[in-house]
Amino acid sequence: AGRVLMIGAGGVATVAAFKIVQNQDVFTDFMIASRRKEKCDELVKAIHDKGYKADIKTAQVDADDVEQLKALFNDFKPELVINLALPYQDLTIMDACLACGCNYLDTANYEPKDEAHFEYSWQWAYKDKFEKAGLTAILGCGFDPGVSQAYTAYAAKHHFDEIHYLDIVDCNAGNHHKAFATNFNPEINIREITQKGLYYENGKWIETEPLAVHQDLTYPNIGPRDSYLMHHEELESLVKNYPTIKRARFWMTFGKQYLTYLDCIQNLGMSRIDEIEYEAPLADGSGKTAKVKIVPLQFLKAVLPNPQDLGENYDGETSIGCRIRGIKDGKEQTYYIYNNCKHQDAYNETGMQGVSYTTGVPAMAGAMMFFKGLWRKPGVWNVEDFDPDPFLEVLNKQGLPWHEEFGGDLEL
Ligand code: NDP
Repeated sequence: AGRVLMIGAGGVATVAAFKIVQNQDVFTDFMIASRRKEKCDELVKAIHDKGYKADIKTAQVDADDVEQLKALFNDFKPELVINLALPYQDLTIMDACLACGCNYLDTANYEPKDEAHFEYSWQWAYKDKFEKAGLTAILGCGFDPGVSQAYTAYAAKHHFDEIHYLDIVDCNAGNHHKAFATNFNPEINIREITQKGLYYENGKWIETEPLAVHQDLTYPNIGPRDSYLMHHEELESLVKNYPTIKRARFWMTFGKQYLTYLDCIQNLGMSRIDEIEYEAPLADGSGKTAKVKIVPLQFLKAVLPNPQDLGENYDGETSIGCRIRGIKDGKEQTYYIYNNCKHQDAYNETGMQGVSYTTGVPAMAGAMMFFKGLWRKPGVWNVEDFDPDPFLEVLNKQGLPWHEEFGGDLEL
């Protein structure tokens, strides 16, 4: 039996839920729990409205609260918990998993709320505890992190004796026809892209100013797009796991308009993540006001479009992959492995846009690997620690087919 509890009912969770329901031979019992139960019930309705038959349980849970999580886990008794809430909840959910004997999977590394800081140390620190408990934790099983590491592992396994240069390239060439919107949770997204850039070269980490390094890269079926060097969490585990890597970088495309808005948001102070005092009207309708504390970025999130509503008018596609240079049989080899995903295809299947789709499908695929016993070993692991072959085979069948090019100009 495959008893799975998914936490979160946002864009990524919606896609994962559709995919779980499409694979009920593996996922036999399914519960969705989130901060607001009505979001979970709406999601179940959307799944039924698309004609799927499935008995899905729903529940309310505040995933910041370990005791609430424990009560829920002890009640539903999932074998695997898929965390598709926010990175802030990773550690509380891992704690509850340990307390209740549940395995764990997520798509983004832990971030403290008051400090936009991306690294695995907090979650890697749970390795011994998961090992001793005989439980598996799979970290970062979305597209990037996630598939980007499976692509690298696949290249290392089949096509390289040594990987020397790794560039993960992430292009969203879609258009949602809004002046400004983010493709996933705006708070998490803006925290990520306003960070300093970071890449790895010759054993050292090198910091750059935010979005300071960029160049045109040509994406399949899309063409050239300005691509910006950013820090991305999977680089941290990849350079550890593939010590022959001399340089590892991550690139993401941004349009001019997006960056102009981002600049304004920052200059206005709206991307701040510290609390400010604000004189707000009381909810009792008395017309009186009171000083409240708000976080500007959280307030901004409330006025921006909900990423979940972008799908309908979203055209174009995403293209995410790994460009790799290294040695095979004594010869230099270049290799490009990638997936292109059309926003409209994602929308037609799940009601969500391509960015949620490319994250939710791998989350389901990783969970499937767990239930099939293929990705199951006590401890805390990153995606490249597991066999990439069966995972990539599942992606091929579940809407994210991948392509390979050998010997091309990587532009990098
Ligand atoms: P959303 O904001 O759409 O969804 C988050 C969900 O979690 C919402 O349903 C939200 O509830 C719920 N939630 C938030 N806080 C709590 C809490 N304390 N307790 C219970 N539920 C909570 O985000 P996305 O779906 O866009 O992203 C989900 C995750 O996927 C994020 O961690 C994001 O970083 C990651 N991601 C990873 C990618 C990858 O390639 N690896 C790419 C894109 C995203 P409510 O609806 O009430 O707000």
